[in-house]
Amino acid sequence: MKHSLVYAQEQDAQDELGSYRKKFHIPKQENGALHTYLCGNSLGLQPKITKEYVQQELDDWANYGVEGHLNAKNPWLPYHEFLTDKMAKIVGAKPIEVVVMNTLSVNLHLLMATFYRPTKDRYKILIESDAFPSDRYAVESQLKFHGYPDGLLELKPRNSETLLRPEDIERKIETEGNEIALILIGCPNYYTGQVFNIKSIAELGHNKGCMVGIDLAHGAGNLKLELHDSNIDFAAWCTYKYLNSGPGSIGACFIHERHARSFDLPRFAGWWGHDKATRFGMRDEFSPITGAEGWQLSNPPILSLAAIKASLDIFDEVGMEKLHKKSIQLTGYLEYLLSFFLENEVEIITPKNPEERGCQLSLQLIRKEGKKVFEAITKRGVIADWREPNVIRIAPAPLYNSYQDVYHFVMILKEELDNTQ
Ligand SMILES: *Cc1c(COP(=O)(O)O)cnc(C)c1O
Repeated sequence: MKHSLVYAQEQDAQDELGSYRKKFHIPKQENGALHTYLCGNSLGLQPKITKEYVQQELDDWANYGVEGHLNAKNPWLPYHEFLTDKMAKIVGAKPIEVVVMNTLSVNLHLLMATFYRPTKDRYKILIESDAFPSDRYAVESQLKFHGYPDGLLELKPRNSETLLRPEDIERKIETEGNEIALILIGCPNYYTGQVFNIKSIAELGHNKGCMVGIDLAHGAGNLKLELHDSNIDFAAWCTYKYLNSGPGSIGACFIHERHARSFDLPRFAGWWGHDKATRFGMRDEFSPITGAEGWQLSNPPILSLAAIKASLDIFDEVGMEKLHKKSIQLTGYLEYLLSFFLENEVEIITPKNPEERGCQLSLQLIRKEGKKVFEAITKRGVIADWREPNVIRIAPAPLYNSYQDVYHFVMILKEELDNTQ
């Protein structure tokens, strides 16, 4: 019986990736029991090997001082390069298109400095109406900075709908594309979990002469992505959500190969983006590295890169193919249990089609006050996440979440729905 605990236990026993759970620290409750952690969309859990990777850099710093730049086991000077191939694989990009640097909102600004080039006739930026606040602030401040305070264009769901219809996105770009300088979409949307067809958005946008950028904060390490083939101009993401690289760890970006030598495009520059052969010549003239690396500004935080390296080594071992396959099953199982036990209590606003979502399901409560129930399940050891105005986001991460996690969550939710007035 698919809705029994025994079924969940059997699935865990057969799970090819089941052994990876042991490679992560699962937070414990006060009573010593493990939390039901379903919040990898907000902060991914710590791999047990991360400590070793970070310790290595602390030791090398202690032992070598500045000479660690060349003499550390993993020399700091090229350290970011050790991450490129594995990060590129995760998002389906070529190594020349990817660099790990800065944090996400910073990268969005840097990429807009290059790819948002407004003119009098074409100055708008198109985002989702429920875009993540930081993305909206970044976009609005860019618009103001360039002198186009009314340039924000939003993709809104139809009345009484929560998801965007592909045909509405298409129509918006068709009818207003001539005035749009940049399309910047979150994939999946952080609130609804809706995944967009970024290849088709890139094609529609490019046909109208727009630049197309994607925020993959919730996509990297979650979706099976083919960024190079999707033809988008750029993307940026963080590494502390599905990529399990630690709170505030630095992010990464993708800049399509066709822009690798676009040295005529304006960009904000710093010494780390300068040609490596002459970087330490301390010349006056900036000569950017070919490819995404040429957008770097500063020498990066090695302790953060070490944590990312630990995580990428796990992702590389597993591969997005297997991870994504388990993700579809695990999230499908969550969906099944919710509909079996709680059909009249919980509405899943995330799309039903696995192609249009990642691992996260966004839940709205039909009859009970969402916030109250959320607080009640939190007391019972569930770590999930609440987003105003009324969504509980549940993200079973296929690397470390089990079928039993999902089962326990649904049982606790059911009990607390019964208990809450
Ligand atoms: C998590 C998230 C951010 C966070 O940005 P930081 O600069 O890393 O703090 C931004 N945008 C989206 C869509 C996110 O999901």
